[in-house]
Amino acid sequence: MSLTTFGVVGAAGRMGQMLVREIAATPGCKLVAASERPGHPRLGEDAGSIAGVGALGAGLGDDPAALFRTAEAVIDFTSPKATVAHAALAAKHKRVLIVGTTGMEKAEEASLAKAAKTARIVRAPNMSVGVNLLLLLTEKVAATLGVDYDIEIVEMHHRHKVDAPSGTALGLGQAAARGRRAPLEKLRIPAREGITGPRAPGGIGFATLRGGDVVGDHSVVFATEGERIELTHKASSRQVFAKGAVRAALWAKGRKAGLYTMADVLGLG
Ligand code: NAD
Repeated sequence: MSLTTFGVVGAAGRMGQMLVREIAATPGCKLVAASERPGHPRLGEDAGSIAGVGALGAGLGDDPAALFRTAEAVIDFTSPKATVAHAALAAKHKRVLIVGTTGMEKAEEASLAKAAKTARIVRAPNMSVGVNLLLLLTEKVAATLGVDYDIEIVEMHHRHKVDAPSGTALGLGQAAARGRRAPLEKLRIPAREGITGPRAPGGIGFATLRGGDVVGDHSVVFATEGERIELTHKASSRQVFAKGAVRAALWAKGRKAGLYTMADVLGLG
């Protein structure tokens, strides 16, 4: 089995540490570089020690360029601004880049597409197999049921999450909108507060809950007079996202440059 060398940016973060553990535990994968934002208190320490799996020989640095020179595949669960800079480096060094960062603006998303002219990029707001199946099911159910079924997407995450609705909730909204053959921007109902009036038919609503240590719950509700269908996914460990990200990197290694999704990685169409 050929060895794949990995770099993790944001390696001291919640997902970063999980990724370091997952790479260390996956046969054929080796962590060779790790980075954090300049000024991070743990710079200079070994990324494996930070993640609790013992030293792996990858010191935490603050120069992402050095990381992209060294590793074949880089996994990025950081912030939109950092991810844009990492994508440019992936393009320059023709690397595999796995992007889990959420909350990206349109222009930031466009910079990923630009970088994917020379880099192999897999981007997914949720890297779990279960959620990617949920996306498919949501599109199918929305296409089958008419506008008589109101669609509401409910999500809950831990108290540290900074963006809302979650990237996954927005992805589910886009899947439902595809099923209804319209862009989400046209169907999205603004957040409700005060006297909102009755619900307009055909729209897609979002509700966001934040609290505690919830890893990620998502439900898509299809409600009409007399019945309700609910599709729900609950992640109980961040490990599912790390597993998906490592799987995506190994898959992308053999591909040509381009911007891919988890549906491509999982062969879901
Ligand atoms: P976190 O705050 O614990 O970790 C982010 C880390 O990135 C921090 O350690 C931070 O210092 C670091 N960072 C910021 N700027 C950097 C830079 N310029 N260079 C290097 N490191 C930098 O957050 P988290 O819970 O790990 O989530 C990170 C991102 O991943 C969020 O956008 C979150 O929504 C997303 N996420 C995606 C999935 C998925 O499956 N796609 C799953 C979980 C979280």
